[in-house]
Amino acid sequence: MKITIIGTGYVGLVTGACLAELGNDVFCLDVDQRKIDLLNNGGIPIHEPGLEEVVARNRAAGRLRFSTDVAASVEHGEVQFIAVGTPPDEDGSADLQYVLAAARNIGRYMTGFKVVVDKSTVPVGTGDRVRIALQEQLQARGVDAGFTVVSNPEFLKEGAAVEDFMRPDRIVIGHDSTPEGLQAAALMKRLYAPFNRNHERTFWMDVRSAEFTKYAANAMLATRISFMNELANLADNVGVDIEAVRRGIGSDPRIGHSFLYAGAGYGGSCFPKDVQALERTARQYEQDLHILRAVETVNDKQKLVLGRKLLSRFGAYLGGKHFAIWGLAFKPNTDDMREAPARVLIRQLLDAGATVAVYDPVAMDEARRVLALDLSAAELARVRFASSPMDTLDGAEALVIVTEWKAFRSPDFGQIKAALKHAVVFDGRNLFEPDVMAELGFEYHGIGRSVLT
Ligand code: NAD
Repeated sequence: MKITIIGTGYVGLVTGACLAELGNDVFCLDVDQRKIDLLNNGGIPIHEPGLEEVVARNRAAGRLRFSTDVAASVEHGEVQFIAVGTPPDEDGSADLQYVLAAARNIGRYMTGFKVVVDKSTVPVGTGDRVRIALQEQLQARGVDAGFTVVSNPEFLKEGAAVEDFMRPDRIVIGHDSTPEGLQAAALMKRLYAPFNRNHERTFWMDVRSAEFTKYAANAMLATRISFMNELANLADNVGVDIEAVRRGIGSDPRIGHSFLYAGAGYGGSCFPKDVQALERTARQYEQDLHILRAVETVNDKQKLVLGRKLLSRFGAYLGGKHFAIWGLAFKPNTDDMREAPARVLIRQLLDAGATVAVYDPVAMDEARRVLALDLSAAELARVRFASSPMDTLDGAEALVIVTEWKAFRSPDFGQIKAALKHAVVFDGRNLFEPDVMAELGFEYHGIGRSVLT
């Protein structure tokens, strides 16, 4: 099938590469010339396990192309996927300017029937706005070409995106019941048939329900995280181990084990903005989403918890004190630092007068870029970008872990103890067991693990 993907970011690039891997002829469009040049020169703009090989294989096979040529991209695909960003607007609503620009571009150049598939995360009703934006262009050109708008939200996780795309636990497709809508549904069924060979994984619905499903999923996941973080803070006060509690409740199949980990707060490009956008949608209908408002407030506070623990241990003024930070990406297996808790922690420590040495297995370049935006030159001078985890430790008052990279799970504790000024570990992801750390001679601070013995 001939497919066009508009937007070659996390979602677009993974979608394009994986659909090419299944034998489709894929044209990836982006407005970012540097990104397209990098891809055409064999580079990959993001860190995503397995992606480089899939892109290389399919480029070599001639099934995957990258370009900034809008007219050619519209001409190419019978199915046009919109996978551009939907960042938060100033009021928290999803900024649809890129989605609508993509829709107008399709209307500007199309000559025959197109199925326009919205893969970006967009508020309920965006399908109608895409249809109108596209229709206006067709009318302006006096062209009578048929099209229909389908919603196909993406559920992949950064860090496991290729695997998630190739083995989805569900495919959500929203379409209307006009003849064009039914024609589009048949096309989508064919396109996704390879994923449904053993189990039917596709959920068919109307466009608005599909748009809503994506927000509901992310809002639910964010809710579980904030729920556990709030309980973890209480656990710290009452002398309870939240990890024991997590296992105790997760074994109930009605609850399940996923997304019950207390930590330093959620970040990334999706949960914060999607929770906000759903709240914003509700406000437009004069409804308050009380639970989601609390989810957001709890998360904002949670990002401060690690820093507060440090300040209460070492004092409000940290001048002359140095700290080691492991993990900068908002979660493991990605270099994405959007809304990352590490950025909040670094700000807190620098504000209190400390210096820091930071390390992340893949996000060092991204860290240099975003911290240069977050911090003044004088503040940035108090951040050292280390070359390894152990390289952060020399002379540090404590080690602080912010991201649960696998590489941090079994470190050489003897070496850590020898390099640190004090044997103190703040574990923002509860990677270690408090009693084991005590046996190893560490003063250990987890999240919700202050058991009274
Ligand atoms: P991204 O910022 O990584 O990529 C978006 C790309 O679109 C950029 O490369 C940008 O240059 C390009 N672009 C913008 N306007 C364009 C236009 N008119 N024509 C062509 N290209 C254009 O974004 P992302 O993380 O891939 O997210 C895309 C959408 O998918 C968002 O709505 C997001 O909420 C949703 N989503 C993201 C994830 C994730 O894990 N990142 C998961 C599921 C859904």
